[in-house]
Amino acid sequence: MIPVKGHEGQKVAVLGLGRSGLATARALQAGGAEPLLWDDSPEARAKAEAEGFSCTDLTRAGAFDGVKALITSPGIPHLYPTPNKVIARALEAGIPVDNDIGLFFRSFAGPEWDDFDITPKVVCITGSNGKSTTTALIHHILEVAGRPTQMAGNIGTGVLSIDPAQDGEVVVLELSSYQTDLARALTPDVAVFTNLSPDHLDRHAGMGGYFAAKRRLFAEGGPDRAVVGVDETEGRFLANQLSEGPQDDRVIRISSGQKLDEFGWSVFARKGFLAEWRRGKQVASIDLREVAGLPGAHNHQNACAAYAACRSLGIGPKLIEAAFHSFAGLPHRSQLVGERAGVRFINDSKATNVDSAAKALQAFPKIRWIAGGMGKDGGIAGLVPYLGSVVKAYLIGHSARDFALQIGDTPHEICETMAQAVARAAAEAEPGEVVLLAPAAASFDQYPNFEKRGEDFAAQVAVVVKG
Ligand code: ADP
Repeated sequence: MIPVKGHEGQKVAVLGLGRSGLATARALQAGGAEPLLWDDSPEARAKAEAEGFSCTDLTRAGAFDGVKALITSPGIPHLYPTPNKVIARALEAGIPVDNDIGLFFRSFAGPEWDDFDITPKVVCITGSNGKSTTTALIHHILEVAGRPTQMAGNIGTGVLSIDPAQDGEVVVLELSSYQTDLARALTPDVAVFTNLSPDHLDRHAGMGGYFAAKRRLFAEGGPDRAVVGVDETEGRFLANQLSEGPQDDRVIRISSGQKLDEFGWSVFARKGFLAEWRRGKQVASIDLREVAGLPGAHNHQNACAAYAACRSLGIGPKLIEAAFHSFAGLPHRSQLVGERAGVRFINDSKATNVDSAAKALQAFPKIRWIAGGMGKDGGIAGLVPYLGSVVKAYLIGHSARDFALQIGDTPHEICETMAQAVARAAAEAEPGEVVLLAPAAASFDQYPNFEKRGEDFAAQVAVVVKG
């Protein structure tokens, strides 16, 4: 745990008692603050009380008297579409709103760092897609390099739950736009922006607010090194704003698809090869085509981002290449879960929207595509340009018939359940083809979450592979 500094003897309100809220409460207490806890849900309050905390109703008048700050959980809106009522009360009372990320950055460095040979560093990753994969990949490369490292943030462990840094440690944090929007201190050593596409627009009052939230990672104190995906206009703008000029190598531009050979420092992937260029010269290259854990152009973008971040930490290209090959990938993101007679079964249950499903569909040449679930607003007509590689679609869930109407003349079959879809696709697949779960829909019609959906896919694959 990282005890919170700067609030010794002060009352600090904590709203939202999920995993990160409780971790924040513990870290505040360990740092000598007096946490005042609240959650609208009686079950969440009961859980906090079972841990020995007492709850304080922050909705009542005067609740913020003498309180120094309000720490909130990422799921709670502080401005848009409308502020949560406790947050609105704090705003009226003149209380700053912060989150666990802000507390972390103010608390992480300790006096023991003076005796370290190598000062610990923090690498943060944000962007619309690929955050978790890039975060896990950087962490994996650091492990292979023998560097002490911990991974936290949006990817699982709350930031305040990690251990205090060791000599030479690198902490790798995945940060969502909700987290970067609010943190009152945000001072990574290396910051990564993968890409940008519309998401969470209601929480950020539109695309401008969403981009502004992500940009804060680069603006509040400024990282020593910025790794910026320049495949969208916003990324190009950000990279240029952060650098003195194209040759300024404090910014490493990355791309999947573009040749970036005119910058001070760049890393890009084209036709399956990653290339690192510095000042007009190629300095390293890696063949990504046989890297099983990172299939497709979208994962090559993640590979470029992780490569650039690790190069800026002083890790050599050969070691990074070896680490790419031992990266198993994350569950439910382009994850190989089985193979039978030349047919590969790939679980991309996390592809819950059109954008991520489109990326998955571009990653393989011949696809038996399992899709459907709880369809999202806007439908899946946007996927039609990417269906050329689909031999046949096997449609499941609530949206199966609806999807069938939107996929043009792609051959398809309504299967209803995952078991049926996997059995049918496996029976019809030819060697060299891929059976791909990339649902382009939420899972809630048939599963509690996308993880359970992916696990069911893997279980059904195990049945046919054993078969
Ligand atoms: P995030 O943490 O940003 O949600 P993940 O690594 O968990 O990103 O991937 C989420 C989904 O997006 C998966 O379906 C994955 O295959 C797809 N994806 C991964 N990387 C990228 C990328 N660079 N660009 C677009 N889509 C991606």
